[in-house]
Amino acid sequence: MDILLVMLLGLIFGSSLNSIGFRLPLILNYERKSPHLPSLNLFWPRSFCSSCGKQISWINLIPVYGFLRQRGSCNFCKKKITLEYPFTEIICSLLFIALYFKFGLLSINFYLHLILFLNLILISKIDLNFFKIPFFLNLLILFNVCLINSDTIFQTLLFILITFLALLFVSIVFKILRSREGLGMGDVLLISFLSGLFELEKIPLLILFSSVSGIFFYVVMTYIKNKRNFEIAFGPHIALSGIWLLFIL
Ligand SMILES: [Zn+2]
Repeated sequence: MDILLVMLLGLIFGSSLNSIGFRLPLILNYERKSPHLPSLNLFWPRSFCSSCGKQISWINLIPVYGFLRQRGSCNFCKKKITLEYPFTEIICSLLFIALYFKFGLLSINFYLHLILFLNLILISKIDLNFFKIPFFLNLLILFNVCLINSDTIFQTLLFILITFLALLFVSIVFKILRSREGLGMGDVLLISFLSGLFELEKIPLLILFSSVSGIFFYVVMTYIKNKRNFEIAFGPHIALSGIWLLFIL
């Protein structure tokens, strides 16, 4: 019964994350709002089609089911709905279940990691679509990591500082040698803040897995897109590695 509840909560939170992931970049002016869309904040008005602005009926707002019921396109303007939406909902649901098995519903760690993971998914979605990581979301990661490690907060902050300085050094050297930016400041901060979750000797694993995941994705995309020298968002790979390492280490 608990698992079913956790699974449903994951789907509902995933759906809310889709809505926030669409609205936040508009509020932050990462993209221009199309004139069809109503004025909005994070939670108001009710969900609408991102293309024609028509309000979505409650039944089509049901996570995953709504997507399938509309056969993946808007009922009014027939514009395709991105697969990112049901995918986010399913990922959230799976992560909620994984956290439930790791910590149980009664542990504060369940909730602290839940907020961390939701933030990581939101960061990934925004980075994937806009190649930007909002600074305040990174700060929230730092705050969250400090709460998780509140017993060893000074050590955590020290590890974060060491990782930050090391990555800053690498990215400056890269910039001098290649005269272009290799690792954005958003990525540097995200890796540094997440590194506070791990023991010092395991932090290189976070960097290694993020890089391997990013390179693997890049190689696959060169075949799919059949072109080279395009930019990829690194945030999702850092998030993925951080989450994965939390479960296996
Ligand atoms: Zn529409």
